Amino acid sequence: MKPRSFAGRMQSVAPSATTEVFKRVAELRAQGVSIVSLSVGEPDFEPPLHVREAAKRALDHGPFGYTTVAGLAPLREAICERSRLRRGVTHAPNEVVVSAGAKHALFNLAQVLYEPGDEVLIPTPSWVSYAEQVTLCGATPVLVPCREEQGFLLTPAALAAAITPRTKALILCSPSNPTGATYDAEQLRALADVLGLHPIWTIVDEIYAELYYDGECAPSLASVAPELRERLVIVDGVSKSYAMTGFRVGWLMAPPTLARACETVQSQATTSIATVAQLATIAALHGDQACVREMRETYRARRTRIVDGLAAIPGIRCGMPSGAFYAFADVCALLGRREGEQLIANDLDFARVLLERARVAVVPGSAFHGPGYLRLSYAASLADIDSALARIAAFVATLF
Ligand code: PMP
Ligand code: GLU
Repeated sequence: MKPRSFAGRMQSVAPSATTEVFKRVAELRAQGVSIVSLSVGEPDFEPPLHVREAAKRALDHGPFGYTTVAGLAPLREAICERSRLRRGVTHAPNEVVVSAGAKHALFNLAQVLYEPGDEVLIPTPSWVSYAEQVTLCGATPVLVPCREEQGFLLTPAALAAAITPRTKALILCSPSNPTGATYDAEQLRALADVLGLHPIWTIVDEIYAELYYDGECAPSLASVAPELRERLVIVDGVSKSYAMTGFRVGWLMAPPTLARACETVQSQATTSIATVAQLATIAALHGDQACVREMRETYRARRTRIVDGLAAIPGIRCGMPSGAFYAFADVCALLGRREGEQLIANDLDFARVLLERARVAVVPGSAFHGPGYLRLSYAASLADIDSALARIAAFVATLF
């Protein structure tokens, strides 16, 4: 007997485009196909040695059980301490909820805040999961396009124009995935002046804050606009800065009532995250931060290599991103051309045919609401970057 249908919400939600490309690359590699992947945004480094040692100690000595849902107290203290050093803002452990990655923290937040009738502002190009999480809650993502001429940054005028009485929240990602665009303190202050006039939540995703190339750490709205504190949520984690994606540790810092609500949601979904991952994260946050600086410097060199290499390919334009580890390249001039029988009408075709023919995996800009562009992750070795650039240049040369 055919069972009843899936929930209606499944008609409006798409799978994560980044994890889909990741899956496709894994399938092709399993078939023995050699792929250069600049697709999924994941550090190619191993986690720092002291983090792995802390994880091994935890496996030998425990504790082995559940922890409180929001995370071990020493972990939440370590998060507050690192945030104070980085942002100059003080939080208490009861304002922190630790989840299975920043994505999970954002998901809990979505469950707590968004419902049908709500509008959530998302400046685009934007990371794949923001809009889909809003949709899963039955609320409406309101995409606010940010043009390349404005540095892919939300302007105060565009923000003011997008706010309506239904606006529940703004999700701001700086440095941004996929563009690398980063707001400076003055730009954040100007946005805060608009936000101050409206009773909406602001969620700042600062997961790439330490992968910033114009200074040590990207400016934070939390430091620039302390008056927004009672309606500001910081989302962060160890996936990017410490190359700890597989540990699945992220968190949010929010006013205590909102933190409690997120804890309630998590208590019904996953309880606490893996205890060993929590102990490894304490070591990352308390340990020597030289590893973060070293990785940043390596990304910096790769950033120049990929941006210069892309810009040298006829028909591709690419600006210099100031943070994260993505190049966001404009391929509009190449659209409408053909590769053999295949028409490359848009960025989705470009990414698909590039993978089929040149065996280079990238993510189409459309996945980030940025059509006409490709996102290339430079969290890859210089050898892989060079090989991808050579393959892309050869591919572009065959288009007619
Ligand atoms: N936010 C942004 C902007 C990201 O690029 C990612 C990458 N996965 C995340 C959140 C989630 O990271 P994680 O769940 O690994 O902490
Ligand atoms: N954030 C990374 C990316 O954008 C990892 C995959 C994901 O979580 O979306 O590629």
